[in-house]
Amino acid sequence: MSSASQTLTGRLGVHPEATQGKSRSTRAQRWDRLVVMTTTPPRAVAASASDLRKTYGAGDSEVRALDGVTIDFNQGEFTAIMGPSGSGKSTLMHCLAALDTPTGGSVVVDGVELSTLNDKALTTLRRERVGFVFQSFNLIPTLTAKENILLPVDLAGAKPDQEWFDQVIGAVGLADRLGHRPNQMSGGQQQRVACARALVSKPSIVFADEPTGNLDSTSGAEVLGFLRRSVDEFGQTVVMVTHDAVAASYCDRVVFLRDGRIVDELRSPSRETIGEHMTALQVGSAPGGDL
Ligand code: ADP
Repeated sequence: MSSASQTLTGRLGVHPEATQGKSRSTRAQRWDRLVVMTTTPPRAVAASASDLRKTYGAGDSEVRALDGVTIDFNQGEFTAIMGPSGSGKSTLMHCLAALDTPTGGSVVVDGVELSTLNDKALTTLRRERVGFVFQSFNLIPTLTAKENILLPVDLAGAKPDQEWFDQVIGAVGLADRLGHRPNQMSGGQQQRVACARALVSKPSIVFADEPTGNLDSTSGAEVLGFLRRSVDEFGQTVVMVTHDAVAASYCDRVVFLRDGRIVDELRSPSRETIGEHMTALQVGSAPGGDL
């Protein structure tokens, strides 16, 4: 056995002698399996927070909006952040997205520690590496859908990638609305414009703050369906704050906050399991254990 394979088997906890005495082809097959096991990379982290703290006020009036949040958001995953009102969801998202400055701890986006950046670098990071979708759409009323979508690319002084633009427009189903202004579109169409705008600069991560909060259920489903597709088909990373179990059930993972702390997490959530966990949060304990 080569030293490389000894190192490999050692790392995997397989004793090198375990393969001795086997036929050559069996050893070769085992080697192939080991190589596959060790070369499948773990998912890279798009953004992370470490012991993140945000305090408002001081003394008796001190509010700990974030009280030591540590979390990774893997690339190509759709994560929902849920929790009761006042639990710190918006504060966490704003700190992650470089829209707010934490009191303590650190945030890393796309490998960059935010506290090392000056204002100009933060603006560039927000424009080029982060996409935003807000509850209130935040489109510029005097611009057409196409102009709104291309605004971040224009502001960056970059040339739009036509192929990518066409792909995103196709995915959000807006090809026949590109010349319309926001007031000529439904709420669902406006939010799909906002989603396309968030994706067009190929950000490392998209933050969506209650993206379906102003939409009826049909339009909401279209927007969530698009965010889901952006993860599945384009490998996008999406983090969404929501209070809606239906919206969160589109996600790969739900993280629950209470009193500025992460107190629970679900993978492959269903509407029912999310509902149960939210109910438990309101009464103070998670299903199956204390929080
Ligand atoms: P959520 O999004 O879960 O409703 P927030 O992140 O908005 O919660 O707020 C978390 C806590 O921080 C709440 O107690 C809220 O009142 C407080 N808070 C948020 N922003 C401010 C602020 N600018 N000044 C004082 N307290 C704030």
